[in-house]
Amino acid sequence: MYYFPDSPRQQKQRRTLVAEIRRKGIADERVLEAIGRVPRHLFMSAGYSEDAYVDSAFPIGEGQTISQPYTVAYQTALLQVEPGQRVLEIGSGSGYQAAVLGAMGAAVYSVERIAALYHRLATQPWRPLYPDVHFYYGDGNEGLPQEAPFDRVLITAAAPDWSDVLLEQLLPGGCLVLPFDNGGAHQQMLRLWKEEGGVRREAFGFFSFVPLRRGVE
Ligand code: SAH
Repeated sequence: MYYFPDSPRQQKQRRTLVAEIRRKGIADERVLEAIGRVPRHLFMSAGYSEDAYVDSAFPIGEGQTISQPYTVAYQTALLQVEPGQRVLEIGSGSGYQAAVLGAMGAAVYSVERIAALYHRLATQPWRPLYPDVHFYYGDGNEGLPQEAPFDRVLITAAAPDWSDVLLEQLLPGGCLVLPFDNGGAHQQMLRLWKEEGGVRREAFGFFSFVPLRRGVE
């Protein structure tokens, strides 16, 4: 058993957050249950832990953010992930989205392009809770050839396009979920299914993400 700081007050705030996300339209019980279990206060940057159960994005340094819980729930629900599936995440950031997928029983391979954020992930107190969540330093546009293929691919930054490499690293029948940046103020969530005849595209609501960039820093 691994113990981590999680007070009755934080547990109560988490239940309230789950109720709020449910009210906003997330109906997938497995996703809601995972959000209800992952201690988001451990993923916040110094000075923000009091805001952990506010349904907003918050700064994590390096100009990046921990995603809004509703957005995490929305993307996770679209992924339709089953226990044991292999998921590639592009944009580790705080690690919160990766942990939610890990809490649902997925094997998660998450790539981050900013070295300072990547190195911070190594020492986080929540790491022992999610033994099948793995972090990598690199440009997620290239996928993760050494761990491919994946059942699911998730991009958590505003993507102006997606490389064929990502679709190649996706198993047939799998899907890629991404916030698509067509130059407007908000990004439309897309889900691309890799099917025998090609790629089937579905479009969903609009969100606001930090940009997907090229290369590493
Ligand atoms: N999933 C994160 C969200 C972080 S914000 C969370 O739950 O906290 C998006 C992240 O994507 C940022 O950390 C940013 O540095 C990273 N990113 C942007 N472009 C990337 C790329 N090409 N490869 C890997 N990570 C990228």
